[in-house]
Amino acid sequence: MNMEIIHVSAECYPMAKVGGLADVVGSLPKYQQRLGNIAKVVVPMYRTKFLYDSQWDVVHKGAFAMGRMNFDFTIIKEKDNKLGYDLYCVDINGLLDREKVYGYGDDAERFCAFQIAVLEWMSRWTDLPDVIHVHDHQAALIPFMMQRCFAYERLKYIPTILTIHNAQYQGWMDWGKAPYLPAWDSWKWGLLDWNNVLNPLACGIKCADKVTTVSPGYMLELFDNSNGLENLFKTEYAKCSGIINGIDYEVWNPKTDTYIIDNFSVTDAEEGKALNKKKLCDDFGLDKKLPLIVFIGRLVNEKAADMLPGAIYNALTEHEQQVSFLVLGNGEPVVEQALTAIQGSFAGYYNTQLTYNEKLSHQMYAGADFLLMPSRVEPCGLNQLYALRYGTVPMVRSTGGLKDTVIDFEDKNGYGICFNNASYEDIALSIKRAILLYQNKKKFKEIRKLMMQLNNSWETSAQQYLDLYTSLQ
Ligand code: ADP
Repeated sequence: MNMEIIHVSAECYPMAKVGGLADVVGSLPKYQQRLGNIAKVVVPMYRTKFLYDSQWDVVHKGAFAMGRMNFDFTIIKEKDNKLGYDLYCVDINGLLDREKVYGYGDDAERFCAFQIAVLEWMSRWTDLPDVIHVHDHQAALIPFMMQRCFAYERLKYIPTILTIHNAQYQGWMDWGKAPYLPAWDSWKWGLLDWNNVLNPLACGIKCADKVTTVSPGYMLELFDNSNGLENLFKTEYAKCSGIINGIDYEVWNPKTDTYIIDNFSVTDAEEGKALNKKKLCDDFGLDKKLPLIVFIGRLVNEKAADMLPGAIYNALTEHEQQVSFLVLGNGEPVVEQALTAIQGSFAGYYNTQLTYNEKLSHQMYAGADFLLMPSRVEPCGLNQLYALRYGTVPMVRSTGGLKDTVIDFEDKNGYGICFNNASYEDIALSIKRAILLYQNKKKFKEIRKLMMQLNNSWETSAQQYLDLYTSLQ
């Protein structure tokens, strides 16, 4: 069955990216189109490079009230179908016309207004879509508004799916903000509430027809550990499932990647990776003969980034001149400071870039030998999938999606280094194993070949989403 699917999200690569949400929303629709469907994506019109580098048509103008505030909004559509599907952006002056995606004091107002504008626009369509697929808390009030706000009566029976990319962030609002929502059936206030606050993610879980998370492993963990939503997941378990993320094989392809200095594939990976490693090591003053372990990601507690400075310090002290590290990331200021503080002690063996840099991330996946992910929580994790595709051995704490996608190299058909706890001991042991594996050239080469031949593309998972949509028609 061919369907029209509308994705609503705060992020979509390359229009706006903070993390994995952007990669997923940026690529899944392309694969859904290829399977014969019409997939469209709607995001806020942040002032990003992609916005200015692209051509747009204005497709709708409207206005709405949010509490006592009145807003005009505009919907624009990307002209050239650059991404392989229609991308729409919502502009709301004063709220969305900013550079960054998150981190403003009025994020609650911004994303509430975004969702209202999407529904104001969509409720005027002549032909309605078959499915509305919303992502994370920034779009999770949409199922409630479709079902309970009188103005959106026309949209009431369109099936909705909520995908949770990260349940730690729930978009909590105090009840004083409830009047932001267009007039709604106030008997239903309980759908908005969780533990006496207005909780958009909890509301999405209650109201969406289906709820998915980005790996089966993470789905199971949410029943016991979901930042206060455990009992809600247990109540709603029948409509919840986990679908593992795929990756965009066109964007993340070492054979064609324009960000890296030497393209390679499984047949010439040894030479290709060596050239990329040389460039990376030259750029960061590291010794290319040593195993290079990198970290790429948000420097936050979930990623166990607070443990990196200590773990790197311990490793470089214990294995003096036997290993090197490169860290790319930004986030918690204390972590950034600690990562900078140890730099002086290990010049030539450790370096760091405390920023967001898409190009450098590709160069690191291509040039590194190992990618360390000691995450405390990892809904799916895309970094390890990129690492596999670029022949870089993932060193992961077995949790959530990491557990679902990485098999330890000492187990059958394995290729990664796995450990159980986000502890200094476990990380130290994984580093020791990485150094030994690197010295065993034959085994290292074998593993690299195996990793690069795995298929983590979207085909299977895109079909699983389609099956889920079909079950709701
Ligand atoms: P999360 O969404 O929790 O941050 P994921 O593993 O799902 O984690 O996705 C992270 C994505 O963000 C990957 O594409 C990764 O390469 C990218 N990324 C994270 N931090 C940076 C950074 N500082 N510079 C470049 N890319 C980054």
